[in-house]
This record gives sequence, C-alpha cells and structure tokens, in this order.
Amino acid sequence: MYPFSFTKVSDTRAAVNAGRAGGRYIAGGTTLVDLMRETVERPETLVDISDLPLGEISVTGRGGLRIGALVRMADAAAHPKVRATYPVISQALELSASAQLRNMATIGGNIMQRTRCTYFRDVTAACNKREPGSGCAALEGYNRTHAILGTSTDCVATHPSDVAVAFAALEATVHLLGPDGARSIPFADFLLRPGSTPNREQALRKGELITAVEVPALPRPLKSGYLKVRDRQSYEFALTSAAVALHIRGGVIREAKVAAGGVGTVPWKLSAVEKHLVGERPSSRLWAAAAEHAAAGARPLQHNRFKVELLTRTVERQLRIVGGTK
Ligand code: SF4
Repeated sequence: MYPFSFTKVSDTRAAVNAGRAGGRYIAGGTTLVDLMRETVERPETLVDISDLPLGEISVTGRGGLRIGALVRMADAAAHPKVRATYPVISQALELSASAQLRNMATIGGNIMQRTRCTYFRDVTAACNKREPGSGCAALEGYNRTHAILGTSTDCVATHPSDVAVAFAALEATVHLLGPDGARSIPFADFLLRPGSTPNREQALRKGELITAVEVPALPRPLKSGYLKVRDRQSYEFALTSAAVALHIRGGVIREAKVAAGGVGTVPWKLSAVEKHLVGERPSSRLWAAAAEHAAAGARPLQHNRFKVELLTRTVERQLRIVGGTK
C-alpha cells in the first residue's frame, strides 16, 4: 500500500465537492481496496460516502423500482419488492461474488467495478485500460475469458457485473448528482465500450456520483430470471450469462427484454433476440430460433471461440426456463 488521504462525508453536497476536487468515492470498498493493494489504482484521496442517504429501495410513482446506490447487494437481492417484481435482479445478485462480499458491496459500486482481466491486474503487463497507450497483453495472450462482442483493437475485456446485465435487459436508468446538479442517463449509455479509450469506462463527469438505479415499470404479468454459466458453481465470474424478462398475455409474447453477460465489453443487450420474440407464441422452436441471433457480430479471439455457441445455448436455455415451454 502507499500513502493516501481519507475523508468521510455525511451529505451529498460535501461528497460532490470532494469528488470535484479529485477524490475517489468509496463505500463497500470491495473492488477499489483490492486494486489499491495491487497498486493498479493509486488514488490520492478517498471519499467515504457510506453514510450518505442513498440506501433505500422504493417503488416509483409509475410502478418501477428505484434502488439507491448504497443499497448493499445482499439487501437488494432479499428485498421483497425486488424478489416479487424483478426476480432477474435478485438472481443476478445472488449469483455474484460471495455472501461476505454481497454483504459489503453496494449497487453503485457493483456497476462501477472494473474488469477481471488478469493483465489489467498485473502491473507488469501491457494494458491500455490501466496505462493508456501501453498495448493490450490479452490480444496475443491467454484470452479465454475475454469478450467476443463490443471489442476494439485496444481492449477486449469483459464487464464483470451480473446485475448490470439485468439492468441492461430491463432498460434501467442511472441517476447521477454532480457539480452541475442532477441528471439521469439510460443504462445503455452509462457503461462505455472501449473504443480507443478503454481507460474511460463510464459516462461520468468529474465529481459525479451515482445516486440510484431506476428500473422502469413493465407490463404484468412479467416472468424474469438470470442464468449464469461459469467454470465452477460459486464465486466465479460468468463465461456467459443471460437476463430474460417476458410479458406473455393471451398466449403471445407482448414484451421481451434480453441481455447477455460474460461476452461483451459492456452488458450486451440482445435487441435482435427481443425482436424475434415479440408477437410470437412461446415454443421450443421459437426459443432456439431467437437465440440464434444472440452472438450476431461476435468476433472471437484465439481462446474463446467456444463462447459463440455457449452464448447461443445459454440464451436458448434461459428463454425456455422463463418462457415456460419444455
Ligand atoms: Fe488491458 Fe483490456 Fe487488454 Fe485486458 S483486454 S490487458 S484490460 S487493454
């Protein structure tokens, strides 16, 4: 570890002022402290925001859910409203990390977490995300767990969050507070693809703080769920995953929300799969045909070609689980 200063704030105005001055926000600390220990990140000032009043879950006037940025993962997963209305969120959270980490980590921190690319965390390796312009060791290295969608010639790292995949599928909104006031942006615009600037991962302005993630109301009944495929049954990141929510009425799929994880540089919205489903009647044939669109545009690397078929199968299986047809 190295010297850094630490300040704790108790209101959002003080937090934003400290953030504007260059401080890094910290709450659960489950990612940032690890990265500081490994000297991957070296913030000069930490701003502890864990006392801010951002720890509530509420139902919005329109019937959606507003999840405060400081709600712990475990609390969000167990919340009766979340479980009842969006099981896909609860399941994504419960399949993440470990029980101990879920008790500490927050929703805001979860979507802000940085990639698990091993080269990013190895300060001796070339990594454009950690050190812009230094290269990407994963391109010619061991890239089995890396992305096949949304990659660039500068970075092929996956985004590691599970719940972010559910938020992407459900078309959530991220609420922010910064020096210029409050603003809200679609979740799809919050996390950035690497392009030529993989070091820039979120559409945050200097000093901005996540205050909440809002999930919109969707027509009921709504069935939803999250499937995660990984090398071992717990405490492991996704090789592929699928978040699915379906509104089926009168035997016809009226709305479909689908996204994939473990395959994209950001949580990957599967719009072509959704389009294939809407207006159709559930059937095994439909699930298989829709899932064929999942890996469209994939650019696999030397060691992760298996992800193309695995993603297709993951999406098909989860459509069948949520859609209810054997
Ligand atoms: Fe760094 Fe991205 Fe390359 Fe990994 S894939 S080494 S995070 S630039």
